[in-house]
Amino acid sequence: MSEKREVRVRFAPSPTGDLHVGNIRTALFDWAYARHTKGKFVFRIEDTDRERVTDQYIQAAADTLRWLGLDWDEGPEVGGPHGPYLQSQRLDIYKEWAERFLAQGDAYLCFCTNEELEARREAAKESNRPPGYDGACRDLSESDRSRLSDQGRKPVIRMRMPEGSTTFNDLIRGEVTFEHRFVPDFVLMRNDGSPLYTLAVAVDDVLMKITHILRGEDLLSSTPRQIRVYQAMGMSVDEYPVFAHLPFVMGTDNTKLSKRNGEVSIAWYRERGFLPEAICNYLALLGWSPGDDRENVTLDELAELFDVSRVNASPARFDMKKLEAINGEKIRALPISELLKRSLPFLIDSKVITGNPEEIEVISKALPLIQERIITLGEVVPMVSFLFGNEVVIAYEEAKKISDEVSLGTLKAAKEALAQVSEWSESSIEAALRAELIEKMGLKPRVAFTPVRIAVTGSHISPPLFESLALLGKTRTLARISALL
Ligand code: GLU
Repeated sequence: MSEKREVRVRFAPSPTGDLHVGNIRTALFDWAYARHTKGKFVFRIEDTDRERVTDQYIQAAADTLRWLGLDWDEGPEVGGPHGPYLQSQRLDIYKEWAERFLAQGDAYLCFCTNEELEARREAAKESNRPPGYDGACRDLSESDRSRLSDQGRKPVIRMRMPEGSTTFNDLIRGEVTFEHRFVPDFVLMRNDGSPLYTLAVAVDDVLMKITHILRGEDLLSSTPRQIRVYQAMGMSVDEYPVFAHLPFVMGTDNTKLSKRNGEVSIAWYRERGFLPEAICNYLALLGWSPGDDRENVTLDELAELFDVSRVNASPARFDMKKLEAINGEKIRALPISELLKRSLPFLIDSKVITGNPEEIEVISKALPLIQERIITLGEVVPMVSFLFGNEVVIAYEEAKKISDEVSLGTLKAAKEALAQVSEWSESSIEAALRAELIEKMGLKPRVAFTPVRIAVTGSHISPPLFESLALLGKTRTLARISALL
């Protein structure tokens, strides 16, 4: 590749659902490579299968990239000089190229029916021959073609793979060679005129002037076919995009991460209140490191440091605990005003608050109490909901914990002690409860405070007790203890 060419990297998902962890790690590395080289990041939607790729998923994919902070220079919503960037809007282009390959002799019409192909595949398997296309229609004469056509058969367009092999230099795996006897002639266009992935992806990478293809290793085996399409398009070897096939992200059971062995949808993480910066941080360091043992990396740092040759060639293991730890860390690092801003949608969506100024004031006071204790933004909701409304719902499991005599005695004593507190503040609440329950009654702190905590907040897990009571106010605190008693 000539030195002067501007780097152009693309992320080209086929969103048949929400983007998953593997997609996002690919997108992140694509983005980082483009930003690091001051090149362009192109976002292309591979939606030739419009039954499975819906508008809703396309929109969701764009929203997810934006949410993560992965901005694109060309693609849906922003346009660009090589558009349209939805493959479903480029069907004429693929057709034109397939026909050109046909005219050049790089491709041929194949009249074999699916049943015939299936039967020959079976026969090949039985006699231990490779199962791919056997070349039956490779050298049909004009009269063969009209005879088959007269039988009512509608041909597909099939690419001719020459003898020999394809070798390319993968930025992560080094030199990779595919022997063509294992790469049979492949279909470019179905007999209804719709393109196959291999045609559309290769044509677009050429027309969009893509210089680097960083993508999942599941696509490694389609690379020799794509290179064949580049050749047919008249590209010379030094003009081909450079490939880097990223190793799989594995689940806990050491198989490829999927719905079966882990949570894969990025929407799932977003709904639970994982922060985009935590997801990017974690995925960036999953199988890549800048050469030190850092655990934190921002998008800006990733852009500055990213070096594709430092991507580990062996599979990376997705570790939920680690992601959670990073998320908790990022939450603790947020200024309260920012934590407030990010928590509000969760509180409003779950109908704990409507979002009025008084509620927001209470939340801003509660957030410092829980910031150290939460892993996701979603956890803010159960932690602060006791602060709203007069009553609190106590789950059976929680009530059972304090149904014994000691707990009831403790609650009665706590109620009396709290009723005497005149200036309702965290320190006077603490002093009153300690004097009564610990000093006078001789209880251990956990035994003393758990019943009060459950009575007032509804759960044995809550923000710190004295601060919680101070925030809740004297009237509601006493009313809740009385209600439980
Ligand atoms: N559209 C393909 C997919 O989502 C990826 C295409 C590519 O990166 O070459 O699996």
